[in-house]
Amino acid sequence: MATGFFFDERCFWHSGGNYALTLPVGDLVQPLAAGGLPESPETKRRLKNLLEVSGLSAELDLRSATSADRTALERVHPASLLDRFKEMSDAGGGEIGLRTPFGKGGYEIAALSAGLATEAVRAVATGDLQNAYALSRPPGHHCLPDWPNGFCLLANIAIAIEAAKAEGLAHRVAVLDWDVHHGNGTEAIFYGRDDVLTLSLHQERNYPLDTGDLEHRGTDVGLGYNINVPLPPGAGHNSYLHAMEKIVLPALADFKPDIIIVACGFDAAAFDPLSRMLATADTFRQMTKQVRAAADDLCGGKLVLVHEGGYSEAYVPFCGHAVIEELAGSSITAPDPMAASLAIRQPNPRVEAFYATLIDEMADFFAKPPQDG
Ligand SMILES: [Zn+2]
Repeated sequence: MATGFFFDERCFWHSGGNYALTLPVGDLVQPLAAGGLPESPETKRRLKNLLEVSGLSAELDLRSATSADRTALERVHPASLLDRFKEMSDAGGGEIGLRTPFGKGGYEIAALSAGLATEAVRAVATGDLQNAYALSRPPGHHCLPDWPNGFCLLANIAIAIEAAKAEGLAHRVAVLDWDVHHGNGTEAIFYGRDDVLTLSLHQERNYPLDTGDLEHRGTDVGLGYNINVPLPPGAGHNSYLHAMEKIVLPALADFKPDIIIVACGFDAAAFDPLSRMLATADTFRQMTKQVRAAADDLCGGKLVLVHEGGYSEAYVPFCGHAVIEELAGSSITAPDPMAASLAIRQPNPRVEAFYATLIDEMADFFAKPPQDG
């Protein structure tokens, strides 16, 4: 069975806002010569282009999708928010929530982004595809039901999960979020649920500042079904793989999902302007290998990756290529041109040992019965 790659040029046309990095332009903040928010089409378009140039595209089942419809959106978001978003979008664009500007037609583009995730999950859940990558844009993992934030306008993965559940295609879903920022939206939506396990590996106190704590393990029947792994700045390749081994893979094995969805951000990479971590393209490759093996063991290989953040235009394509090679089991490669340079820059053994101790302590914490956080 094939690996699907879901994308749509229209998602690359999502635009809006006058920012320099994440600062609104004005007063003493000069507009940037090239673009505004770091969430730009370039990271995604360059990933898609690299897949074409390397030849890997030819081994993938390339697809688009229809937009998530109003019923699908309303399973996660209140009608009042959707109405306001649609109205502003029709009127030329604007901004709702925090750092979520959009242009005319932004509503339809966001619904299409959610549609790419939804169709990828559906195709894998039904066995039409072995696994899939959805190049969703705008991203989704920060979006709360009633408060878009952090470049995320609709909760793509949550919308996809609720659609799959409504269609009876999946009952137990695990979401592993390795975007460098906390998956606060996905966490909030499923915090009181025991049918969706949410795991987030993120840089501690990056974004949002007030979420992502280790102690937040879910509530009511959802207690124990939310796992936060806040990693200190500077964590690199070994720390990420150690956290996967010690915390993520055992949690997936305990949960026994029907399907695994990865909120796949590439902003833990060393070159990212919005984080202070040291992951490399090989880190993402190895994590994909690990989670693919887990999916093989636990749920017939059903695995969907949905694109989230990642803001280095030069480096994201190499991280994405490595991940998609592993998904497809392909021998077509795009070697990381920065591999040697980043290998030298990994933490020294004393610092690595310190990070490993922190991760081991977190694993011990998760071995204890959860307290309502
Ligand atoms: Zn992010």
